[in-house]
Amino acid sequence: MSRGVITTWTSSRRPAWSGPGEGEPSPSPLSTAFPPRPWSKKIRQRPAVFLDRDGVINDDRGYVHRWEDLVLLPGVPDAMRRLKQAGYQLVVVTNQSGIARGFYSQEQYQTLTDQLIQVLAKADAAPDLVLHCPHHPDGQIPSLSLVCDCRKPQPGMLRQAEQRLGLDMAQSVMIGDRATDLLAGQAAGVGQLFLVGSNAQQEARLLENVPHRSADHLAACVDQILALRNTSSRI
Ligand SMILES: [Mg+2]
Ligand SMILES: [Zn+2]
Repeated sequence: MSRGVITTWTSSRRPAWSGPGEGEPSPSPLSTAFPPRPWSKKIRQRPAVFLDRDGVINDDRGYVHRWEDLVLLPGVPDAMRRLKQAGYQLVVVTNQSGIARGFYSQEQYQTLTDQLIQVLAKADAAPDLVLHCPHHPDGQIPSLSLVCDCRKPQPGMLRQAEQRLGLDMAQSVMIGDRATDLLAGQAAGVGQLFLVGSNAQQEARLLENVPHRSADHLAACVDQILALRNTSSRI
């Protein structure tokens, strides 16, 4: 199943996108790890920054699935590299209901993801794990048209990352451009929630009881994360 440097976590099992089998109550999100990183219980828990994709990493043009439509937002590779250098695991968590809706295939999604990872890797900004939810209750592909536990605001993808990478969720950060991103972070016990992008004011109205911070873009968000960390660190 692996192509080139990319390995899917699910490669040794029945593909999760084939839907739940008998006796399997909930489907799992799919994932791409780069570089392949077997999880070990011995690894000390590390914090992660969870990143939504569309609207945080790349311009959200709606159901982006072709390379020519994937336009990185300004400053993104540099911002992601700074987080890695600061010791955060980087986990991309993206709802991809376009797969359930039949707009594009699992393979098209994976090809685009591989290309994105390669570009970020050249900037020393490759994510440690990329998870996506291919489901939607009103989809066109029968095996993917269901209520799942991984479509944000559900926390399934974040919980899977927590298990696989051994993450310290309380010290982790969720960055998204939609209220649903932050609600998924809250449900998974993520300590800090950030709203970014042009929809931030509108989305913030959906988060009245959810403590969070806002930033214009990812780089500004990273400035705040690192400043807060330095302020709270003890010698
Ligand atoms: Mg988004
Ligand atoms: Zn799902």
